[in-house]
Amino acid sequence: MLNIILMGPPGAGKGTHAAWIERDYKLPHISTGDMFREAMASGSPLGNKIKEIVNRGDLVNDELTCALVKERLSKPDCAKGYLLDGFPRTIPQAEAWDKIAKEIGREVNLVVNISCPDDILVTRITTRRVCPKCGASYNVLTLKPKKEGICDTCGTPLIQRKDDNEASFKVRLANYYSSTAPLLDFYKKKGLLVDFDGTLAVDALKVQLKKLLASKR
Ligand SMILES: [Zn+2]
Repeated sequence: MLNIILMGPPGAGKGTHAAWIERDYKLPHISTGDMFREAMASGSPLGNKIKEIVNRGDLVNDELTCALVKERLSKPDCAKGYLLDGFPRTIPQAEAWDKIAKEIGREVNLVVNISCPDDILVTRITTRRVCPKCGASYNVLTLKPKKEGICDTCGTPLIQRKDDNEASFKVRLANYYSSTAPLLDFYKKKGLLVDFDGTLAVDALKVQLKKLLASKR
């Protein structure tokens, strides 16, 4: 069973690698952003509660976030493993999740951390372009669409996300480091953390990740 938490700063390549791991290993990729959106759209009691908080402009607290992750990971598609992305974000969440995961038999057994130096991340993010329709991601330096400025998949003009500029990105990065650095330690002490070099080309990193996942199966 592969119960994986995927960690790494924004721009390190989590999404890229989550996509093939999900496909090749049939592990549901659960990102907290998607989970919040789905829950709010579902009309479940928990979803409605979260909707109310978000609409008020407040942050969803750890207790509710954990409850939502519990609800999602209790579903049958997670019985053979999962790939969790964007959770836990803080030590209190990680401690709470430890207990809940035990209760529902979904204990984390691997934490994959993709690290990458800031200057490389900044370049990657400020050259990123996304498709507002299908969500496909491109890069004007390394992953150009076939036709400049147009999505290969659906033909929609690509955009640069508003917060994909250097100033906003540095704020996101600082937040990531202040809340996540302690988490890396938390999982290292449990012997679950495996570090990967996010400066590697996608294919090279993929080979290393495949080796690790094969050894854990
Ligand atoms: Zn598209």
